[in-house]
Order: sequence, then structure tokens, then C-alpha cells
Amino acid sequence: MTIPVKPPTDAPRYIRLNEADNVAIIVNAFGMPAGTKFPGGLTLREFVPQGHKVALTDIAKDAAIIRYGEVIGYAIVALPAGSWVEEARVRMPAPPSLDGLELATRTPPKLPPLDGYTFEGFRNKDGSVGTKNILAISTSVQCVAGTLDIALKRIKDELLPNYPNVDDVVAVTHVYGCGVAIDAPLSEIPIRTLQNIARHPNYGGEVMIVSLGCEKLQPERLLPGGKDSTSIMRLQDETLTSFGAMIDLIMRMADDRLKLLNARQRETCPASDLVVGMQCGGSDAFSGVTANPALGFASDLLVRAGATVMFSEVTEVRDAIHLLTPRAVNEQVARELIREMKWYDDYLEKGGVDRSANTSPGNKKGGLNNIVEKALGSSAKSGSSAIAGVLSPGERVRDKGLIFAATPASDFVCGTLQLAAGMNVHIFTTGRGTPYGLSSVPVIKVATRNELAQRWADLIDINAGTIATGEATIEDVGWDVFRFILDVASGKKKTCTDKWGLYNALALFNPAPIT
Ligand code: CA
Repeated sequence: MTIPVKPPTDAPRYIRLNEADNVAIIVNAFGMPAGTKFPGGLTLREFVPQGHKVALTDIAKDAAIIRYGEVIGYAIVALPAGSWVEEARVRMPAPPSLDGLELATRTPPKLPPLDGYTFEGFRNKDGSVGTKNILAISTSVQCVAGTLDIALKRIKDELLPNYPNVDDVVAVTHVYGCGVAIDAPLSEIPIRTLQNIARHPNYGGEVMIVSLGCEKLQPERLLPGGKDSTSIMRLQDETLTSFGAMIDLIMRMADDRLKLLNARQRETCPASDLVVGMQCGGSDAFSGVTANPALGFASDLLVRAGATVMFSEVTEVRDAIHLLTPRAVNEQVARELIREMKWYDDYLEKGGVDRSANTSPGNKKGGLNNIVEKALGSSAKSGSSAIAGVLSPGERVRDKGLIFAATPASDFVCGTLQLAAGMNVHIFTTGRGTPYGLSSVPVIKVATRNELAQRWADLIDINAGTIATGEATIEDVGWDVFRFILDVASGKKKTCTDKWGLYNALALFNPAPIT
């Protein structure tokens, strides 16, 4: 997709999001110097970098700093109008209490249906729809990964060219499987993640598992219903008398499945068959102004079209939970949201930290003072629909509509868990910039700023920075995102990561003990 970007304008410009806000963020590239006068009469008292906040009124010491109409912190020193509201001058508020939250008190009314949108997907026997046609080779333990790497290279070089209708062959490798407390209650998270990835819609139901033989996670546990042990090979099998024999068997099993996958055909599917996973990485102060609200608009369009759309990243919604529980479709779903927040609060507390450990040096350089401000921007991805369901980490999605899939915010762990949930398109917003990609699903990357979209024109699919400069509206970019999702899901357009073959490893979430 072409990235329309006008040359930067020198006219001073800031963005205030809510009438209650007493701060705004500077739009101009590279920031603005002391003495800069804005059309409204405000004068900067000092240099303020791009994306960072300026005080719009005199803010007294200990007074609330308000952005998104919410308290994002308290002034450590008096901040006269025109001051830079930098991190060292802001005290972070406590997170909202999980007791006494409103439960489904303001459930948004159902939005009008959006009919007639379709994409060309690979329909599976279980009703799910693939957006790519991939042979996935699952593994039960890390011990087999080196062997599988060698086999994979030969499969790609010698077999894949014979099957032009198959997009790729991927190895689902990980560090789980042995040396772990396999029966610990929390081990269900990595195990169900691997089980659900094995039946991902883009793998067409053609399961193949490479195992060692003696590991704690026995490969049968990864078999989806209806599959038998012919889908499993064990390197320790006594009939395999050499390394070469192991590679030959993996290649024969792969060849059988490639033949079947090659016969898959795309067919017209309603947009309601989409399962879109949304997340952000390398966020900045523009994330909550441009890219995430545009995703929120696209998310509402997807919900109106009957699709499933997931938002995630517990530590990035924790400080906005008081805005989310009222939007639940019923009290049960609101309680499930609280359950996932509580679980994560306890998990972090055991590690001696809290949700404030989330923010990175890059987030702060991009103007985000703390996790409260980051969370208010991150949760804008959820749009305005009712929250229809909640998933615990590693679960497969069951409902249509807007779903909160509880995951860590770590890009690779979140992506892996959304993959297990069954997402067939991934959409990722970034302000600082990351070349993140996954091989199993198309990953659409949306930039929050024009400067990033220009610098990384061959890595960014959609530029939402035009919202900050007034060249486009949230609705314009939201529709661009929605239409691009349909084209990418159909295989008609390729994402930048797919053009380059630029892929990160999967990363399991394992909160259970390792032995
Ligand atoms: Ca993330």
C-alpha cells in the first residue's frame, strides 16, 4: 500500500483529545522550541519534544494532570502553562481498584450491521477459515528443534516448489516440553497454547508432530480430536537407525501433507469469518491519538460485519479497566475481565513488580509518562462496541464480536497467544517502530506518525500519522485498515513482512515452574 505523506508543516500544532484535558501533545516533527506561539495563544516556556505534553493551563503542585479526560498523574512541581510535562515532573496514580467496578452498566447498543463484505479464504472442515495455506510441523519438546531445522530447510528447498498452492512450511518450535512441572496447575497455559496452535485455521487441519519420545509433554496431548498417532513421529523410534533416517521420515510425512494442502482452494467467505488479533508494540504518545483509535474504528466495522476481533495485553488495559467493565455485554463478562486483571496483578506481585514495569525507555522517549497514559492510549484499540467475551491465555476463541483475550503485552508472547486463539489476521500498531512479523498469519503494521511511515516505507503497511497532521480522519484510516484486512486475508495484497519473509519466533507464556 502506498503511504501518502505531505511534507511536514512548520506551523506549530498540538493535539488536545478531551475538553477536560489540561495537557496536549506536540505534533511537529522534532518538537518545538521555547517561545513558540500557538494559534490559541499558548506560548512554550521551554523546548518540548514531538509527542511530549505541554501544560495548557497553570497546573499547581500536586494537582491532577488530565489526558483522555482521565487522571494520568499528579504534578510533582508547579507546571505553569507552556511547561514541558516531562516524566520526572509527574507522579503516577494508583491503578483503579478491582472492587466496586461497574458491571455491564453501560453496555453499548448493538451497532447497525455491515453487510456485503467478503474475502477469499480457505474454508476448513471445522468451519474455521484460513487466510494462508501453510504446512505447520508441531513439536512436543525443544530437543527436536535442531533436527527439524535441518529437515525444514530440505522441505523448503526440495518439496515446497512442487506444491505452488502452498504458501509456506513452518516449524512450531518452543522451549517447553521437558524439564518442566508438567502437572502444575499453571502448566495448562503453555500446553493448551500448543494444542490450539496445532489446529490453527491456516494449517488446514493437516497435523504433523515431531517428538523425541521420552519427554514429559507426550505428543498425543497435542493431537486435535479426530487425528491418530500416524500424525506423530518420534526421533527415538527404534526403527530409525540413523540421523538420515529421521530426516527422511520427516520429509515423507511432510510430502504426504503438502499434497493434501496443495488441493485447498480459496472460496468467497463472509467478513464474519475473520478473526482479527490487535496489539501494539513500541508505542508512543501518538499511539492513542492516531493508530489505536483508527484500529478502534476498524474494530467496530469488523464487529458490525459479524467478525471476531480481539484486543489483549493485560498490563496495557489494567489502568483503563474502570472504562471497560461497564462496556461488557453482561455482568458475567465484566467479572471475567476483573478475574483476568486480578490474576495478572497477583502474577506480577509474586515477581516483586506491578504493571508499571511495562513501560520501556522508548515509550518514555516517545512522550508516554507512565503506564496509566500508555493504557488509556492502548485501550483505544477496543473501539466502542460491547465487550462480548473474555479468553484466558492460550484459549481458543468461542464468540463473535469484540473479545478481550488476556495475554502479556510482550509482542511475541501476545502474538503467540492470539495465534492460539485462532486469529487469521494480525494487526499491529507502532510509534517507535519495530519490524515485527509472524510467519503463520499476515501481520499488518500501522504507524502512528508520518516520520516513521516515511523512514520505514518498506516496513509499514498503513500510515495513521496523517490523523495527527489533519490530512485524514480516524474514520478514513479506519476504513483503510478494514479494506486492507479483507485484501490481505484474500491473498490479493501482501503485507510488508510477507514481502520480505520477515518473521519472529513464537514465544510461549509459561508461568508454571521449571524443574
Ligand atoms: Ca505488545
